[in-house]
Amino acid sequence: MRAAIISDIHANLPGFRACLDAVDELGLERILCLGDIVGYNPWPNECIRIITERSIQCVMGNHDRVAAGLEEPDYFNAMARQAILWTRRVLIDEHRDYLSKLPERVFIDDSTILVHGSPRDPDEYILAIDAAHENMRFMEERFAAWLGFFGHTHVSGVFDRSDEESPYGDNKVLLKEREPYLINPGSIGQPRDGDPRSSFLVYDSDELTVKFYHVAYDIDAVHEAIVREGLPEYLGARLFLGR
Ligand code: ZN
Repeated sequence: MRAAIISDIHANLPGFRACLDAVDELGLERILCLGDIVGYNPWPNECIRIITERSIQCVMGNHDRVAAGLEEPDYFNAMARQAILWTRRVLIDEHRDYLSKLPERVFIDDSTILVHGSPRDPDEYILAIDAAHENMRFMEERFAAWLGFFGHTHVSGVFDRSDEESPYGDNKVLLKEREPYLINPGSIGQPRDGDPRSSFLVYDSDELTVKFYHVAYDIDAVHEAIVREGLPEYLGARLFLGR
């Protein structure tokens, strides 16, 4: 199977469309999403419609959970809170219902798991090696899984058993079978790894490889729409920086 793995779309329709075009050009049979379809940007209904129309399998992100009304945005910063409360107001019932039913984890085969934050906690940020290694142990002991895909940090990268985050660039990474990995495709809607382009990855389960892709899109259009809808202007400005 060759699947595109995407994450943290955050209602950024121009970024999402640009990535889907790239995915379609690659002729991939499947798209999997690691959560946070909504929040920050102004096209939540449009993005959920695409997800459902294309039958994209998705786990629940923390922004999805709050938008669906399952939790209050108490721990969100002021701008994220403003955007998620705006999202709640505009979401149609059918989409609120869709978000509220997303699963916390998805297994795509015996050994591969999809989560939003980490295998042990949907709200955990895996940014450091220690957290990655603890989660690899949890993933193996609890689920007998060795390959995990996660989002939430908006930073693309590969953690393996070593003490360094692997350098990857746009290269293909060859995975060793039954070695533990935690891999993040980066974010479509609000990248934070210094590259403002939307990112995703392609996982090939036959070759056992992942390859990262970065796709340019019309950030100006998103910035304008954010201002037009009365969302915090900074949410548009940060997109140009990829921070
Ligand atoms: Zn997110």
